[in-house]
Amino acid sequence: MLGRVPTEIEWESIITNNKTVDKDFVYAVSSTKICCRPSCPSRTPKIENVRIYESVDLAIEAGYRPCKRCKPGGIRLPESEWTDQMNEYMDVHFEDHITLQFLADEFHGSPYHLQRVYKKAKGYTPTEYLQQVRIKNAIKLLEETYLSVEDVGHKVGLHNTSYFITLFKNIVGTTPKQYKIHGRK
Ligand SMILES: [Zn+2]
Repeated sequence: MLGRVPTEIEWESIITNNKTVDKDFVYAVSSTKICCRPSCPSRTPKIENVRIYESVDLAIEAGYRPCKRCKPGGIRLPESEWTDQMNEYMDVHFEDHITLQFLADEFHGSPYHLQRVYKKAKGYTPTEYLQQVRIKNAIKLLEETYLSVEDVGHKVGLHNTSYFITLFKNIVGTTPKQYKIHGRK
């Protein structure tokens, strides 16, 4: 079921973290697939991404996951699911400027806590994962397009070309240019 767009009063409650309406509805954020209590102290989402559900169960049924920070309905999200959410997000949004602070805001935790939990669950850091995703996509672009090395870097969110080349070489073992000419070693 698709949630509805918030009323003015509901939106007002969300941006003021109004605790008194916590029992009335939850809000779901389509960009992160997380649902929250109105009082959640996390960063205010963009209104166009917000959908309202009468209960957390309805939001979960619609594919949302309860926020780790405000725990709507008292449901606690397992840590592995929380970190999977971050990976899913990075898989799609790798072009964007994603920092640890950004992930912490978006996924509702402190950067320190997030980094620690993530590393424990995955065995690598969010930054390392993002680098892998970006290089994987860069490889795809080098194989499938005629884009220049510089443009490939931009397309995968690595705007500093010499950094892109260094990172690529570290992970793949060859420079993007050599890779484009000779392919995988
Ligand atoms: Zn929340």
